[in-house]
Amino acid sequence: MYIRGKLLSPMIKMNKREKVIRKEQKIVNVMICMFCKKNHGTGNGKLCNSCRSLRSYSYIRLKNCPLLPDKPPCDNCPVHCYDKEMQQKVKEVMRYSGPRMLFRHPYFALLHIWNKTKFKLSRK
Ligand SMILES: [Zn+2]
Repeated sequence: MYIRGKLLSPMIKMNKREKVIRKEQKIVNVMICMFCKKNHGTGNGKLCNSCRSLRSYSYIRLKNCPLLPDKPPCDNCPVHCYDKEMQQKVKEVMRYSGPRMLFRHPYFALLHIWNKTKFKLSRK
């Protein structure tokens, strides 16, 4: 039993990490698509060059997030791993897509609000 427990726990940890990364990537993707479609005139799941590089940048940052799997929502994060230019871009995307998420993707939006609340409560 002891050996099994020892073997299993790193695997469970990795799975949780993977899950969080995938979920966050999905949300980022949806938000960037919404923003790009409206502001850069793209559509059908396509992105302009600038948004595509923003997306791959945020995917990489997400994968390398030192706070996973219990990361706080990015806007509450103490690390701020984005460089200045990318942070500016992503803020623009969030400002546009954030409120709209509630209507088009209420599940993701509620999940985000829930994560924020949970994080705030845990800091009290
Ligand atoms: Zn774009």
